[in-house]
Amino acid sequence: MSTLQNRQFKLTSRPAGMVKRSDFEFVTTPAGEPGPGEVLVRVLYLSLDPAMRGWMNEGKSYIAPVGLGDVMRAGGIGRVVASNDASLAVGDTVVGATGVQDYTVVKAKDMTKVDPRLAPLPRYLGALGMPGLTAYFGLLDIGQPKEGETVVVSAAAGAVGAVVGQIAKIKGCRAVGIAGGPDKCRYVVEELGFDAAIDYKNEDVRAGLAQHCSKGIDIYFDNVGGDILDIVLSMLARRARVIICGAISQYNNLESIEGPRNYMSLLVNHARMEGFVVFEYAARYPEGVQALAGWMLAGKLKAREDVVEGLETFPDTLQKLFRGENFGKLVIKV
Ligand code: NAP
Repeated sequence: MSTLQNRQFKLTSRPAGMVKRSDFEFVTTPAGEPGPGEVLVRVLYLSLDPAMRGWMNEGKSYIAPVGLGDVMRAGGIGRVVASNDASLAVGDTVVGATGVQDYTVVKAKDMTKVDPRLAPLPRYLGALGMPGLTAYFGLLDIGQPKEGETVVVSAAAGAVGAVVGQIAKIKGCRAVGIAGGPDKCRYVVEELGFDAAIDYKNEDVRAGLAQHCSKGIDIYFDNVGGDILDIVLSMLARRARVIICGAISQYNNLESIEGPRNYMSLLVNHARMEGFVVFEYAARYPEGVQALAGWMLAGKLKAREDVVEGLETFPDTLQKLFRGENFGKLVIKV
């Protein structure tokens, strides 16, 4: 095993604004051997997530920043190629924190075994993985949707947003997406079954929401923050729930992030705004995965992945998220 070569992206500087290739060092080292309780995993697909940008920043967050000189943190799916733990065998397919590299030596207990025959591997990083679970717990647990309510979601064609709108439909709600460009808007309505979509790059978001949410917005699942959050806040229904999942429009700001101006709408409408991190729901992941897989099998939940080839593309591929150039869950085929 020690002859296996492992290419790795190490974070070498804290990015200012958008991530750049020069924020990383691309090195090759031996893959290493699993110690007691550990496995060596060949990484097959890497999950590219907007949160990675935050993990590169210094400062307190829900998770420690990636240290300078450390392999960049990433979720991934791979195959066990050597095992020193009875719970996993060579050939098993596992999901977990692999890092941006070809191989990882990890504790077996930190990886989750999945069945590669049930779904294409990238799906376990998307609708059947962390983003799907984010949609599931965020919408259902925090949003508490009721039949007939209007649910608005931003980044609606993305990994989390696409699942949010589809679950809203499953629960008998009206689903309105906000996404960038006519192709993504057509996709969420025609393929995913949303009731309407607003192209924030080419349309007036306020006018679109007024047209499609004439009784106000009962639930807003916010993935983007910024101006769109402000517009939605001004159009809330009574007792609305605003779910703060992410604020991708703000992640590359050089200054501090821009907060909502229209928050007094929460007071006027007796509404609630609540944030969450999916990891807080770890104990309930099996429930979420079972529900998502069940809907997928029943044809009620569709998913799409955007697969880019080559570990070496990592810094450039990550930028796609912040330019809206991904269409579906963004993964790298290692
Ligand atoms: P994604 O939606 O698949 O990809 C990101 C999308 O964000 C882009 O495709 C783009 O779509 C949109 N976007 C980028 N810059 C934007 C801007 N300035 N204004 C408006 N939209 C912009 O990514 P994802 O993995 O599903 O993540 C979506 C959000 O959920 C992110 O904010 C992420 O941080 C958050 N998240 C939170 C948790 C949690 O536990 N709280 C977990 C996972 C993800 P358009 O082409 O439509 O602009």
